[in-house]
Amino acid sequence: MPVIPSYFKKVYSGQRRVSGKHRPLPGAFSSLSGGSPAVQSVSSADVERDFSGFQHEALQLQLELLRQALGLTTAAFLWASSKGPVQLLTISSERDDILAGPFERGAGLLGGLLHGRAEVSLTTVSKTYSGLIYYRNPGQTGSAIALRCQPAAGNKDDKGFFILAADRQTTGIWRDEDRALLRRCADKMIKEREFGELLTGVEHERSLLRKICGGLRELNRGLGLESVFEATVRAVNNLLAVDFIAISLLDDEIHYTAFVSGRYEELMGLEYGCHEGLVGQVLKLNLPLPANASYRGPAPIFSNKHCLDGFKSLLIVPLCPEKGCPLGALTVAAVRDDMFGLQDRDLLGLIADQAAIKIDLAQAHELISKMATTDGLTSLANHRSFQHGFDVMLHRAKRRKSPLAMIICDIDYFKKFNDNYGHQFGDQVLKAVADVMARDVRREDLAARYGGEEFALILENSDKQGARLMAERIRCDIAALKFKIDGREVGVTISAGIAAYPEDAGLKADIIELADQALYRAKEEGRNQTVLAGG
Ligand code: GH3
Ligand code: MG
Ligand code: MG
Repeated sequence: MPVIPSYFKKVYSGQRRVSGKHRPLPGAFSSLSGGSPAVQSVSSADVERDFSGFQHEALQLQLELLRQALGLTTAAFLWASSKGPVQLLTISSERDDILAGPFERGAGLLGGLLHGRAEVSLTTVSKTYSGLIYYRNPGQTGSAIALRCQPAAGNKDDKGFFILAADRQTTGIWRDEDRALLRRCADKMIKEREFGELLTGVEHERSLLRKICGGLRELNRGLGLESVFEATVRAVNNLLAVDFIAISLLDDEIHYTAFVSGRYEELMGLEYGCHEGLVGQVLKLNLPLPANASYRGPAPIFSNKHCLDGFKSLLIVPLCPEKGCPLGALTVAAVRDDMFGLQDRDLLGLIADQAAIKIDLAQAHELISKMATTDGLTSLANHRSFQHGFDVMLHRAKRRKSPLAMIICDIDYFKKFNDNYGHQFGDQVLKAVADVMARDVRREDLAARYGGEEFALILENSDKQGARLMAERIRCDIAALKFKIDGREVGVTISAGIAAYPEDAGLKADIIELADQALYRAKEEGRNQTVLAGG
């Protein structure tokens, strides 16, 4: 595909004088080898190799040889696109007044090739002739020739052609052997260019593939929900230059921002109506938005009420584990314009598909582990996670040299509830009692269903007196509960026993034993009361 190499565009923008005979393109290689800022953060193995520098050198060598073989002053290789100016691709010259182009289309000797002619030549060039457009100064030329050369592979989008131009100081006709050599040389250069472009294309795809694999590898590192979110962010950053990433999840009638990276971290955890904002539309339609990935001005990304400022590129793709409904959406945004093309949309979709599978698995995993650690009836921690939680909290209390208290509670005469009103009613009472405990304890405390109608609480950084206040509060709140059954109102009471570290014991088993003994005494002494170990 005959396109002008990017370094040429960078270096030769506008008519600029180039000095020297066999001239390497000034700054071209140094600017290439430095890499763009976006590439600098990528490890060297991931950098896409650019072959255009090598290719340019090869072409220039070719022209140099041609110049020497035919005694030329200058040999130039140019590209005349079907529209726009003529670009100078490579040149070798003895002169030092070479212009870099681009040159006006149709100008000078080369213009003669635009209407289908395969060749234009001059046997005697006048001193004032300015048709050799790559020279700043006219004169010092005897004869000149320009050949129109078709690209070998051709380009569907651009019906342009290459030009091989040559001139020399001697006057006279161009011999057929000279022409043949010029043509063969042009054919070789064209093939060389097209091969170089092929290589660049392959290299580009190779680097893309490497990035995709890197992204997917990142995703496979995540297990829990949080680490899947982090892995998704890393995978996206591997592929695209973004300033904002958000993962939204659908939950019944709402979508919420489950993870935010970059700007607007305050959005984390916010909830919106399930069809609200562009994210809501993506969830509804199960399609990426906006269609052209551009974002002119603030748009309602998450909510209809609040817009996010500061972004000019935006892409939201559904997180859909398999065929079916999306479980959420992945939003990326960038401050700069036109950052996401169609290919980027496909790449992001690829990451989103994998992320969705991982999120789905992680959600299932979290549900299973919640079921394994909490009690189904009361939603408090179950006996096993109580034991584990107690171990962790006691270890921490010892390390911090802070107290820790255990309260063990048992519902009074609970058997009667079951006997008199049925097991189902008993369950209701158990749930209500558990709700009071969950509500009354502090965030850092642990409330668990210890067994049957017994509950255990572990209070961090609390001694026995502090625990007594908490136990009394819970006892009173439970005593205040009223249950309606068979047209009557019934109440419930609890008894509580307390033991603490380090006051009563240092080992978990001893603390539990002492708290249990205190509870037994509370029962013996009439129930509906709190008793301290050793008290
Ligand atoms: P005390 O004041 O001495 O503790 O008397 P109590 O009747 O509460 O004690 P007891 O140990 O004799 O009876 C406990 C009852 O709790 C027996 C059991 O049927 C009931 N129970 C245990 N687990 C559940 C449950 O999950 N649901 C219901 N409805 N009842 C339960
Ligand atoms: Mg009991
Ligand atoms: Mg009981």
